[in-house]
Amino acid sequence: MESQKQHPRVFSFEFFPPKTDQGAESLRATRQRLERLNPAYFSVTFGAGGSTQDRTYETVIDIQQQSCAEAAPHISCIDSTRERLEKMILSYRDQGVKYIVALRGDRPSGSGSSGEGDFRYANELVALIRELTGDHFTIEVGAYPEFHPEAPDAFTDIENFVRKVNAGADSAITQFFYNAEAYYRFVDECEKRGVTIPIIPGIMPLMNYEQQARFAEACKADIPRWLAKRMEAMKEDPQGRLEYGIDVISELCQELLEAGAPGIHFYSLNKAPIVERIWHNLGLSQETGGEVRRPEEIELSV
Ligand SMILES: Cc1cc2nc3c(=O)[nH]c(=O)nc-3n(C[C@H](O)[C@H](O)[C@H](O)COP(=O)(O)OP(=O)(O)OC[C@H]3O[C@@H](n4cnc5c(N)ncnc54)[C@H](O)[C@@H]3O)c2cc1C
Repeated sequence: MESQKQHPRVFSFEFFPPKTDQGAESLRATRQRLERLNPAYFSVTFGAGGSTQDRTYETVIDIQQQSCAEAAPHISCIDSTRERLEKMILSYRDQGVKYIVALRGDRPSGSGSSGEGDFRYANELVALIRELTGDHFTIEVGAYPEFHPEAPDAFTDIENFVRKVNAGADSAITQFFYNAEAYYRFVDECEKRGVTIPIIPGIMPLMNYEQQARFAEACKADIPRWLAKRMEAMKEDPQGRLEYGIDVISELCQELLEAGAPGIHFYSLNKAPIVERIWHNLGLSQETGGEVRRPEEIELSV
C-alpha cells in the first residue's frame, strides 16, 4: 500500500441520472445535502446504449453550474462512434468540467444494440481524451479488486488495467467490494508493475440489500457469507439492518483509510442519509472542511 499513502485523500459521491423530473428534483435535494460535506466531486453515471445519456449530460451541467463541488461525468465508449465521443468530450471541456470517469461501459440487456462501435476498451477512450484535450481533464478509470467478470484470468485483467494507466489515466475508482484484502492485494499487484496512481475504493453502503445483492451478482462482486447471512436474518427488521449496514461499512472504510487508501468514492444510489451517517462515523468533515449533521438529525428511511 506504500504507493497509495503518498496521495492526498479524495472523497467523492456517485449519482445515477434521474429518469423523471421528480427524480431530478429529489437528486438536487440529495446533492445539496451532500455538498455540505465538501466532497471533491459528484460523478454521474452514463448508460451505454443511449438510454439515459441526455439525462447524464443535463445532470452534469446542473452540478457544474449550481454546485460548489466539481462534476465528473462518466463516459462509456462501447457502441459509440469516435465522432459522438469527441463531441461529448469537447462539450464537457467547454463547460469547464475538469474530471471524466472513462469506461468501456456495459450494454443494457434488451437494448437491441448491435454491439458495434469505434472503440472496444476503456484504454482507447483514455487515449482519445488525452489526444483531444491534453492534460485538461483528470481522468479516472475503473479497477476491479475481485477482477472483471469477462477477464480470462486475474493477471490478464491486471495487465489490462495497466493499459489504462499507460494510456494516461490519473486515478482509478474500484468496483464496490466488501473484502478489504482483495483491494490490498490488487494494489500490491499494481505496485509490482510500477503502477502508483491513486486507486480509490468504490464503496457501496448497504441500503437496499436485495437490490444490492442483485448488483453484486451481475458484476460478480463478492458479498461475504457472514454479511449475506446477517442481512438475510435481519430482513424483518429494516431499521436494525440499516444500522448494522452503517456499522459494517464505516468499519470497512476506516480500515481502508488506516491502511493508506487515498480516499473513498461512495456509490450513493442518489440518497444522502446513510452516507451522511458513515461520513460522520469516519469524522471526514474535519478533513474536508465540510459540515455534517449529527446522527440524531439524520432520519433513515427504510
Ligand atoms: C467506478 C466505476 C464506474 C462505472 N460507471 C459506469 C457507467 O457510468 N456506465 C456503465 O455503463 N458502466 C459503468 N461501470 C461498469 C463498467 O462499464 C463495466 O464494469 C464494464 O464491463 C467494464 O468497464 P471498464 O471501463 O472497466 O472496461 P475495460 O477496462 O475496457 O475492461 C473490460 C474488459 O476487457 C478487458 N480488456 C480491457 N482492455 C483490453 C484490451 N486492450 N485488450 C483486451 N482485453 C481488454 C478487461 O480485462 C475486462 O475484462 C462502472 C464501473 C466502475 C468500476
